[in-house]
Amino acid sequence: MINISRRTFTGFVGAAGALSALGLSGCGGGPRIVVVGGGFGGATAAKYVKRYLPSANVVLIDADKSHFTCPFSNTVIAGMNDMAFIERKFDALANKHGITVVTDLVVGIDPVSKAVKTKGGNTFNYDKLVVSPGIDLKWGALAGYDQAAAEIMPHAWKAGPQTMLLRKQIEAMPNGGVVAISAPGNPFRCPPGPYERASLIANYLKRNKPKSKILILDSKDAFAKDKLFKEGWEKMYDDIIEWVPAAKNGKVTRVDAKAGVLETDFEKIKPAVANVIPPQSAGAIAISTGLTDKSGFCPVNPNTFESTLVKDVFVIGDSCIAGDMPKSGYSASSQAKVAAGAIAAMVMGDKPAPMSAINTCYSLLAPDYGISVAGVYSVQDGKIAAIKGSGGVSPMGAPYQFRKKEADFAGGWYASISQDSWG
Ligand SMILES: Cc1cc2nc3c(=O)[nH]c(=O)nc-3n(C[C@H](O)[C@H](O)[C@H](O)COP(=O)(O)OP(=O)(O)OC[C@H]3O[C@@H](n4cnc5c(N)ncnc54)[C@H](O)[C@@H]3O)c2cc1C
Repeated sequence: MINISRRTFTGFVGAAGALSALGLSGCGGGPRIVVVGGGFGGATAAKYVKRYLPSANVVLIDADKSHFTCPFSNTVIAGMNDMAFIERKFDALANKHGITVVTDLVVGIDPVSKAVKTKGGNTFNYDKLVVSPGIDLKWGALAGYDQAAAEIMPHAWKAGPQTMLLRKQIEAMPNGGVVAISAPGNPFRCPPGPYERASLIANYLKRNKPKSKILILDSKDAFAKDKLFKEGWEKMYDDIIEWVPAAKNGKVTRVDAKAGVLETDFEKIKPAVANVIPPQSAGAIAISTGLTDKSGFCPVNPNTFESTLVKDVFVIGDSCIAGDMPKSGYSASSQAKVAAGAIAAMVMGDKPAPMSAINTCYSLLAPDYGISVAGVYSVQDGKIAAIKGSGGVSPMGAPYQFRKKEADFAGGWYASISQDSWG
């Protein structure tokens, strides 16, 4: 449990009183459920809590007016789609589902008075709180990589201006230039993401700047769906993509953004474009609330996603520690439904149902070449684990039609999860 200073505590209570008077918390007498973050986890949680508990006053707070999804952001970087394609608005949550949507940055959570405080000066009291702030980048964990460096060597690991910055750099680089992608060690958001990105950038380069190369400098020796990626690269991008594992000196240990240089233990590389994906932690608000452990992520009860450190606070999505479940949008949305069900059960005085969750991660290697990995999860020996025999990965050596179908499924998945979460 965390220590709250007396000053913070009384400050929260005062502002909360003011907002209650405005009718923003607790109106109508139903349970007050506040959700922080309107991404895959938060948007789904808000919608499903309201569905399971129609009398609840559900407030969804996101720092931005709309959410740009990371899924399909690699297609934007590779020039296949524009930013509007990955923009998700909150209008349907507010207008169709009766959720109070607030655009503001949450700057404090007080678990004693059960209040959420925003930068804009508002306070929201809760009975149950869902926290789904995604990841934050660990500035400085990779020597030389801070916010200023990210403006020169974009991470593009949160969709938005960084996505466009990377795309513009790739569009502006000369034919024959090298794009270097520095991939982090585990755990990180979207394990196959760096390799999908390399594939789609390679697809763009092949068509537009065929003398160019991509160097993946990896902090690991293996990665998600690696055999399938390598099979596709051999077929389509053999002369474009080079993957350098940690064992072959691939780990970037330092960057000098102003000089445009990436350093490994033995080499200095000066690519035309550097995409640096740094180590990550739970979202900053989860850290400042005391929801994280020394791993930088949030331990939760695997059946309900309630924090094991702070009562009545549920952490879902990239910020939580979810055993075998990868940090993906699909995981976040599946966890949101589990948490929403648990919250509804607790509010009604029932026992939450046993946890059951799913995930499928599609990756595109080209607009018409998709691969996937899927899993079904339950709690086994107190931890979230994949059910033996569930899910699986795409087969090796599949014909073109199979890969094309999986690419189509990826598009279908994206449309349907978008509708499920924000529609
Ligand atoms: C390149 C790339 C490709 C990916 N592709 C896929 C894919 O194909 N399939 C898949 O399933 N997953 C994919 N992912 C992973 C997916 O994006 C994340 O796992 C998912 O977004 C996690 O959901 P979340 O709710 O935890 O966080 P997010 O979706 O990031 O949402 C967090 C939200 O919280 C808000 N927020 C944060 N802090 C505050 C605060 N203090 N106050 C108010 N609001 C706040 C943010 O503005 C944001 O809207 C990809 C990721 C990347 C980087």
